[in-house]
Amino acid sequence: MRILAVHAHPDDVEFLCAGTLALLAKAGHEVHIATISNGDMGSVDIPPEELAEIRKGEARKSASMIGATYTCLDYGDFRIFNDHPTRQKVTELLRKVQPEVVITASPQDYMSDHENTSSLVRDACFLAPTPHYDTGADDPAPPMRSIPYLYYTDPIEGKDFFGDPVPVHFIVDISETIKIKEEMLKCHASRREWLLKHHGVDGYIEAMKRWSAHRGKEIGVAYGEAFRQHLGHAYPQDNLLKEILGDRVHPLGRPDTLRDDVL
Ligand SMILES: [Zn+2]
Repeated sequence: MRILAVHAHPDDVEFLCAGTLALLAKAGHEVHIATISNGDMGSVDIPPEELAEIRKGEARKSASMIGATYTCLDYGDFRIFNDHPTRQKVTELLRKVQPEVVITASPQDYMSDHENTSSLVRDACFLAPTPHYDTGADDPAPPMRSIPYLYYTDPIEGKDFFGDPVPVHFIVDISETIKIKEEMLKCHASRREWLLKHHGVDGYIEAMKRWSAHRGKEIGVAYGEAFRQHLGHAYPQDNLLKEILGDRVHPLGRPDTLRDDVL
């Protein structure tokens, strides 16, 4: 199975779904990580162009820890919009990887880069198998055979911008991969050091562990990661991640039988 996780900035994947990706990689699946932005605004000290290169290197190192590839579409921070050229680029990314499973940002989150990434990836999943959709690439990859399974991670702190909790469909028990998740996040040294310097505590790693522990507690395990599945018309309706990860996936919120009754 091929899995593609696309988020907005370098380190978002590590915060929100790296434990699950590590489980998938451990089970022998092919994992790809991509970000739309290169994270160039993430420092007050380092100039954007220099920082972009540093952060891409950190993301590449992090991905390599689970044998994953890393691709950056090289947009700058606060320059991610769901427009035609970007949609073409994200669709081409999907066609190149040909994933069965796609994981992306929550449709509701604290900032627009995350929300725009979410809607771009949602559209790209629909467009990648559309044969007449032209991505404008010089050497275009072939269309995908079908729409992939699409999952959304938690937003940051699990809430939308009104502070309301964003619903969850299931939580994955990542207790056995929390260590590798932590090591992946530590690869983002420029972010971690900046926060250490400014806040005086290792808030970066602690925040990730606190949130993972919070999600884990909801299903009675040490650490967890929450997801929602895109179940709109034409998207796959069964839960492939549950099939792959088995008992580590704890369904919540939306009973699986409800959908069958309605159809
Ligand atoms: Zn982000």
